[in-house]
Amino acid sequence: MTSRQPEAVVIGGGIFGVSTAVHLAREGASVTLITDGSPANGASGRSLSWLNSAGARSEAYHRLRMIGIDRYRTLSAAYPGATWLRFDGGLTWDADEAANGIAATFAHERAIGYDARLLAADEVADVTPGIASRAVTPQGAIFNPGEGWVDLPSLIAVLLRELALLGGRLMSEAGRASVDLAASRVRGVVLADGTRLAADAVVLATGPAVPRMLAEAGHHVPDETPISVLVKTKPVATGLRAVLNTPRVAVRPTPDGALVLDSGWSEREVVIHGDGDFEVRDSTIQGLLREASAVLAGHPALELDGYGMGPKPIPGGGEPVLGQIDGIAGYHVAFSHSGATLGLIAGELLAMEVMTGEPHPLLEGFRPNRFR
Ligand SMILES: Cc1cc2nc3c(=O)[nH]c(=O)nc-3n(C[C@H](O)[C@H](O)[C@H](O)COP(=O)(O)OP(=O)(O)OC[C@H]3O[C@@H](n4cnc5c(N)ncnc54)[C@H](O)[C@@H]3O)c2cc1C
Repeated sequence: MTSRQPEAVVIGGGIFGVSTAVHLAREGASVTLITDGSPANGASGRSLSWLNSAGARSEAYHRLRMIGIDRYRTLSAAYPGATWLRFDGGLTWDADEAANGIAATFAHERAIGYDARLLAADEVADVTPGIASRAVTPQGAIFNPGEGWVDLPSLIAVLLRELALLGGRLMSEAGRASVDLAASRVRGVVLADGTRLAADAVVLATGPAVPRMLAEAGHHVPDETPISVLVKTKPVATGLRAVLNTPRVAVRPTPDGALVLDSGWSEREVVIHGDGDFEVRDSTIQGLLREASAVLAGHPALELDGYGMGPKPIPGGGEPVLGQIDGIAGYHVAFSHSGATLGLIAGELLAMEVMTGEPHPLLEGFRPNRFR
């Protein structure tokens, strides 16, 4: 980068784009954030947003997630009363069948130092409230006290306020932008109306649109993005504080006293039509509400408030795609699942790479060029 204030354009108003824009502004870049609709209108607006590194994955990915959670701890200390960021732990149990993986997961988590307690059903209520202990299977449940959740639209609003204070520019409702490329470097961004914005660096954070947009630049990243559904209940008094991961439903509280729900089976029940359109059946939504009620103390009647539906960005192989595109100077990308857990750290590391031009060691192994 030159000694003048570098010009950076970030495309995408989800958590990756907004976090990267704020971190760039903190580092002194002149930043423009462009998004086609309103901020948080994509996956970040309909996410379970469980902050965790539970279960087994590569060491490098586990490390990145743990550092991601650390950044949320720091944020939480700055906003001690925040209703949108909570560290009340996570509780996980598995189906009562031969493949029940609780013992193996618990052994793994203990071996890597991930804070975990194995609880029998009748111990759960003493540790975390609001759960129907009879729903917990005989193999027990793992309580991870270091986990939490974030409401991403609230976080995005907080970060956008900071971006504005730092002099960053937000262009929302801007239509679909594209990256303006010369032979071996970015020139900037072309807006939907054809206007060109010059930039030293462009960060592509368009969620599920990333693979297609990278393909336009001749770069392939494998894509395993499914269509997912997140159901939101009306506010309900449950006492639940932890994020629940159970065989049939995942549940987390929301800042306004409601719950959000998702699951693997409901995702698989999404109907995808030949023209690419998708819909969710009422029976799927009612099934999720029933499953959630079944795991909550007192089995409260849960009423539907609404649901969000659309692509959940997941790269092939499951691990993040973060960093600079080889051979195109100034072109950086963020495409990942677990963008709630990773949102703050990914934005920080990408901004560092943009500003220094140096690859950050924590992103080694996650770079887009690994698929070449
Ligand atoms: C149901 C569900 C459950 C999840 N659960 C968890 C969880 O428990 N824990 C966790 O850590 N993560 C979870 N995630 C993942 C996490 O929410 C996502 O990884 C994260 O929100 C992705 O953010 P993003 O910024 O990449 O994409 P998005 O939020 O989709 O943002 C992309 C933005 O780019 C804009 N855009 C697209 N194309 C263009 C263009 N050409 N020009 C301008 N703008 C454009 C879109 O409008 C959108 O605003 C979950 C996601 C879903 C959907």
